[in-house]
Amino acid sequence: MEDGKVIVEKPQIFVERTLAIIKPDAVSRANEIEEIILRSGFTLLQKRRVHLTPEQASDFYAEHYGKMFFPSLVAFMSSGPIVVYSLGREHAIQHWRKLIGPTKPKTAKDVQPDCIRALYGTDDTRNAVHGSDTFTSAEREIRFMFPEATIEPIPAGQFAKDYLSRNVNPVLLKGLTELCKNKPEDPITWLADWLLGNNPNKPNVDEPLTPKV
Ligand code: ATP
Ligand code: MG
Repeated sequence: MEDGKVIVEKPQIFVERTLAIIKPDAVSRANEIEEIILRSGFTLLQKRRVHLTPEQASDFYAEHYGKMFFPSLVAFMSSGPIVVYSLGREHAIQHWRKLIGPTKPKTAKDVQPDCIRALYGTDDTRNAVHGSDTFTSAEREIRFMFPEATIEPIPAGQFAKDYLSRNVNPVLLKGLTELCKNKPEDPITWLADWLLGNNPNKPNVDEPLTPKV
């Protein structure tokens, strides 16, 4: 309640996604950056290592066509492999932009010394990482980098909890109880087999009648 107004927080039903790139200058530090990503609560939804052609790099950064830095940006982004991720978490776009920090590493070092660009960036072009800046650009960029993937919305929050507790948790609990009783050597395969054999949604197929001779 604020000034008599009731503020209703809109629940996030779906996990937001953003596109992250580790640029050619920071690929040798990709493991460290990936650890920061995971520590910051993101899920790695998709990942690939690619080497863009100059044409692909200029398509990707088409919004900057005509700017003074465009040719050097395209040359840089196609100068070596990059690692691309689609990342999921609540408010993923805004959180990733915050975590990477200001565009220029020099400014980043001054104002946010622990951000990724302050830690791994070198100069105005070679600034280690990219992040989508809006929902629309995130959609376009994810499609650009992962064209073969179908993008389904991922449920989150209460919606996901309700779905799991209705459809998955009861049977999983039974399976895990049986697993603990049996203590098999390869518990994952055992559980997978158990689930296949005990799927409550499996259609009940009657044995075919033996043909009369
Ligand atoms: P990105 O889109 O890569 O996440 P950004 O959104 O922070 O970065 P943009 O303005 O979109 O910044 O610039 C795209 C990229 O172009 C920058 O990340 C940087 O590599 C390069 N760039 C931007 N401004 C300059 C500049 N003044 N001089 C040289 N390179 C620049
Ligand atoms: Mg940008």
